[in-house]
Amino acid sequence: MTVHFEGHLASYAARSTRSIGRSFAEQPPATRSEFQRDRDRIIHCAAFRRLEYKTQVFVNHEGDLFRTRLTHSIEVAQIARSLARNLQLNEDLVEAISLAHDLGHTPFGHAGQDALNACMKEYGGFEHNLQSLRVVDTLEQRYGAFDGLNLMFETREGVLKHCSLAHAKNLGAVGERFIDRKQPSLEAQLTNLADEIAYNNHDIDDGLRSGLINTDQLEEVGLYARYSAEVKKQFPDIGGRRVINETVRRMINALVVDLIDTSKANIAAAAVESIDDVRNAPALIAFSASMKQEAQELKRFLRTNLYQHYLVNRMTSKARRIVTDLFGIFMSEPQLMPNDYQLAGEHADAQARKVADYIAGMTDRYAMREYRRLFAVDEI
Ligand code: MG
Repeated sequence: MTVHFEGHLASYAARSTRSIGRSFAEQPPATRSEFQRDRDRIIHCAAFRRLEYKTQVFVNHEGDLFRTRLTHSIEVAQIARSLARNLQLNEDLVEAISLAHDLGHTPFGHAGQDALNACMKEYGGFEHNLQSLRVVDTLEQRYGAFDGLNLMFETREGVLKHCSLAHAKNLGAVGERFIDRKQPSLEAQLTNLADEIAYNNHDIDDGLRSGLINTDQLEEVGLYARYSAEVKKQFPDIGGRRVINETVRRMINALVVDLIDTSKANIAAAAVESIDDVRNAPALIAFSASMKQEAQELKRFLRTNLYQHYLVNRMTSKARRIVTDLFGIFMSEPQLMPNDYQLAGEHADAQARKVADYIAGMTDRYAMREYRRLFAVDEI
């Protein structure tokens, strides 16, 4: 039985039939497209379940209503699918990339990643995009015939959003575009911006909910002010969270509509006809110049007022200590880690990579528990 899922796509969309394919050849699926199979493999992997207990800005136990990396990934998938459908791009592929894009994140968000990168300085560094690829390429152990999830090239390419040149050289085909300065598929470009739309807007929502920022401050941000004024005019009697929710959903909509219109025009102007044309063209999925400026203003606001808020700094500082101390103790005493992570002999680089894998795989609460187990004097 052959089922067709991609007949409606534009000629420049990514398609299973014209894919670079999987590293390990497999029989095509009978009831799904290749990219649907990728999405399903991602949903069933262990790293995906851990996303529920990992965070970006707020530590997981701080409140039940804040985003976690799991809910963030689902929001990215929702926005990306909506964009893809409007642009006749491959919805299944953008869903797979969205759900996998954060699999390699450390506990404690960027604070954890920066700390682990600093610890790994002498051993090749730590990049979360590269780690997401490492999770799907090797760390997941679920199949008899191969390590990792053996995903399609286009899914892996989308997961590897950024990568340093030094690392790109060791990655084979999926690293080549960073060396050749080419673009990934439109689906990968689109998911990257869907990620940005999702986190900017949910950080406003979570930031307000936490009380670390307030709506008066946000009125200084052009995009927010425009839509909160619209909401208050249309619904003069509502207040509180309903105004915020109405405003944030209008902001998301404005960003989505702008991205669709601008990208459609870019695609038409570049006259791309195939995914190969896309790879050789400049980046085509983009916001208009004015919307890009407004999005940057919003980002700047969040950086100054939320990500660098002193209460967030406290969490960042503690996260750095936890990750750094865990790394230090596991490097000097690898025998404290589960057997799979211990290497025999003197291979500092390889051992450091194992320690990084172990720490990166931890959820926020697991890392805190490990820290207490290893360093708290009243706990054995
Ligand atoms: Mg993300």
